[in-house]
Amino acid sequence: MHIAILSRNRHLYSTRRLIEAARERGHEVSVIDPLKCVMDVTSRRPSVYYRGETLPRYDAVIPRIGASVTFYALAVLRQFEVMGVYPANESVAIGRSRDKLRSLQLLARAGVGMPVTAFAHSPDDTQTLVRLVGGAPLVLKLLQGTQGRGVVLAETQQAAESVIDAFRELDANFLVQQFIHEAGGADIRAFVIGDRVVAAMLRQAKEGEFRSNLHRGGSASVVKLSPQERATAVRAAKTVGLNVAGVDIVRGHDGPLVLEVNSSPGLEGIEAATGKDVAGMVIGFLEKQARPGRTRTRGKG
Ligand code: ADP
Ligand code: MG
Repeated sequence: MHIAILSRNRHLYSTRRLIEAARERGHEVSVIDPLKCVMDVTSRRPSVYYRGETLPRYDAVIPRIGASVTFYALAVLRQFEVMGVYPANESVAIGRSRDKLRSLQLLARAGVGMPVTAFAHSPDDTQTLVRLVGGAPLVLKLLQGTQGRGVVLAETQQAAESVIDAFRELDANFLVQQFIHEAGGADIRAFVIGDRVVAAMLRQAKEGEFRSNLHRGGSASVVKLSPQERATAVRAAKTVGLNVAGVDIVRGHDGPLVLEVNSSPGLEGIEAATGKDVAGMVIGFLEKQARPGRTRTRGKG
């Protein structure tokens, strides 16, 4: 196959590993910076130009799209889809996953467990909002945050109200969420490919921190998931419509609760923690699934 990786930087660990894995398996691979693509959207033969040349019709494209370039990079991915290139993850599904509210609404509709969550823009009635999720302590999240940025723990009612007022002042969209205390600053990252969890790690927040993101100093170790946790992760990825996903789950008293579903999950942490060739498994998935014009992940919404 000839595989394109949509990535801004070929030196990033995940991109490097995907290149390596594709070559090892005998494929040709090109790294395309989505921001340098020019699209011909009107002609009968939709095409993408890159450094003045028309790009070939790849057999598959692996989007590795950073949050800050979502808008344009998704347009480029859509263009590849129109051209019949098989995407590891479809643009629609990535769009859903980038909006925490939208994906949580989809997960709720599908009956996937998650912490009690309320959404607000400029609530006049801060107290109702706080009461909805069972009062303090609670977690506040900016809708577009990643890597733990924009996620705040308010330990008291007063702190919660102050943060909500601040977000309101900033005109920000945010979620208010029940704090899962029993998670103990840990969460599970389940790496899903197709309908299987292929690798999983437990991330533990550093001392004095409740966010377990590796970017926030969390540490990772290998973990064995229960059948229920596996099923929840696969269900969450499917509901959002992702073939390749990093599903974040906390262990609640009554079972697994999904926090979010990531569409460009990093490979470094999970490969290091588990010793697995996750990049190779992503390529293996494409070998099985990629056909011209075949998109298989039509989720809902
Ligand atoms: P981000 O997209 O910034 O990673 P997350 O929703 O995944 O945002 O939150 C970051 C981290 O904060 C999680 O990995 C988890 O450790 C912690 N966390 C988030 N929400 C909760 C919650 N409701 N209860 C307990 N811990 C939480
Ligand atoms: Mg997260």
